[in-house]
Amino acid sequence: MEVGGGWKDQFANAPDVLKNQPDHRTVVWAGNVSIGGEEFVTIAGPCSVETERQLMETAIRVAAAGARVLRGGAFKPRSSPYAFQGLGLEGLKLLAKARALTGLAVVTEVMAAADAPMVAQYADILQIGSRSMENYALLEAAAKTGRPILLKRGMVATVADLLQSAQCIVSYGNPNVILCERGIRTFETATRNTFDIAGIVVLKEISRLPVIADPSHAAGRRSLVPALARSAVAAGADGLIVEVHPDPDRAWSDGEQSLTFTGFGTMMADLAAWCELRAACRSALETVA
Ligand code: PEP
Ligand code: MN
Repeated sequence: MEVGGGWKDQFANAPDVLKNQPDHRTVVWAGNVSIGGEEFVTIAGPCSVETERQLMETAIRVAAAGARVLRGGAFKPRSSPYAFQGLGLEGLKLLAKARALTGLAVVTEVMAAADAPMVAQYADILQIGSRSMENYALLEAAAKTGRPILLKRGMVATVADLLQSAQCIVSYGNPNVILCERGIRTFETATRNTFDIAGIVVLKEISRLPVIADPSHAAGRRSLVPALARSAVAAGADGLIVEVHPDPDRAWSDGEQSLTFTGFGTMMADLAAWCELRAACRSALETVA
């Protein structure tokens, strides 16, 4: 028996998402992209789909800088009922158009169980947002579309809570779950959320599922995003989801944390060397156990 292994008891309710040996991992495919394999995958795009021009321009620019998947919200979970709620179906159609234009796979959030089949018609990956992580009816509906699920950690969810929700999705017959650390609520106010880098390390240690990081929602400010992204690579994450906008100061949501095209390009160039290091360290990381 493993000495000090008792801490893993908290994950006992999520048996199907745990590793049964150190190098056990699930590679999730979306279109022609695999997440959780050798490649470090960057997902990028605006917080919200706003206009055709905004989305097409962003898709072309993030693809040119090395992103493999386009993000963009068509259904937006906004804390104010007066804020922009997303374009809905029109936004989904624009995402599909951007995919046709660039070849990027598409991820977008689904907020209501009833919308899951429709969102799955347009998206390659369904995003379950932080606020929905424990919406079990939504988890079931999303899982049953058969699309891979990007499951964001709830802002007051423990690592065990996140894995429990992943287990639910798997139990509905969908093994293709990507976990996302996007920052949690703490007493700290200097950042929008507290980026739980140790959470990424723990998830990579115990779970077979791919783990990506969202430095944008963790940081809340674009100046912090490249350093948090770099730390996610170093911690062993499988990828990133990053907000990028043609004109962040005029974005309809989350402009403060969105990178410009230039900022995104610079970050991607900087990350390349870190990704090479990650590849070299990866086998070492996996055999530590
Ligand atoms: C988003 O990705 O734009 C979003 C709303 O993220 P989260 O659910 O992590 O807040
Ligand atoms: Mn956002």
